Amino acid sequence: MDFLKPRLLPMNRRRTIYEGKGKILYEGPEPGTLIQRFKDDATAFNAKKHEIIEGKGVLNNRISEYLFQNLNDIGVPTHFIRRLNMREQLIREVEIIPLEVVVRNIAAGSLATRLGIEEGTQLPRSIIEFYYKNDALNDPLVSEEHITAFGWAAPQEIDDIMALAIRVNDFLTGLFLGVGIRLVDFKIECGRLWEGETMRIVVADEISPDSCRLWDTKSNDKMDKDRFRRDMGGLIEAYTEVARRLGVMQEGETARAGAPKLVK
Ligand code: UDP
Repeated sequence: MDFLKPRLLPMNRRRTIYEGKGKILYEGPEPGTLIQRFKDDATAFNAKKHEIIEGKGVLNNRISEYLFQNLNDIGVPTHFIRRLNMREQLIREVEIIPLEVVVRNIAAGSLATRLGIEEGTQLPRSIIEFYYKNDALNDPLVSEEHITAFGWAAPQEIDDIMALAIRVNDFLTGLFLGVGIRLVDFKIECGRLWEGETMRIVVADEISPDSCRLWDTKSNDKMDKDRFRRDMGGLIEAYTEVARRLGVMQEGETARAGAPKLVK
């Protein structure tokens, strides 16, 4: 009954719901769905630094698909439904909670700077932080007090978000360790998914080397967006290696345009 499946509209006839720095959201083929498209844009420092890195969107789409599918499979709810093509995935429409939820296992980045801890120091336990998603304010660090006082999320929702974040961290830490990668820290976003009268919090957005710090366990080489932030080069090579280790790219497959092996 293939002809009964909703068809995807051609790109130029789709309604854009939202365009961000790295992704575009289009109206989906059915109510309650959206199409999430991964662009090749790399941005850092609140978009003050911007480059196009050919193939990055393809890699993030694949890696994020793999991680979200695994989370779905172990019962961690996410917005992910399925990948549609090289750059796009079908997702459930959720109401995004305006917080960046960061989980840290090892000191790096802004935590290392803010608290004067040497990068690479193992933290006494995993730490969860919240940042208020607001570009004009540079995504400031906020506490649960701010979140509840300003109504960004209810206390019960914060509990749910923290429980989700810990499950994601435990799962991803093990998954990456199995392929020789240390999960230093990562960011997730959460959304409210309405199913009739009931609402639950699910993991949304993406999980990719753009939103994680990933260090090779042996060499400590960075395999994430810090290569772009810190002008180290080799970003595509590093993301390709993450994809290869996770088993989501075949040997010889490349994410760059014109590569003969990429048919889908
Ligand atoms: N992160 C992200 N988006 C942001 C800010 C941070 O995905 O807008 C991720 C980042 O890749 C890292 C973690 O969250 O894995 C912690 O980032 P940190 O607070 O150290 O910020 P940064 O050093 O990137 O400014």
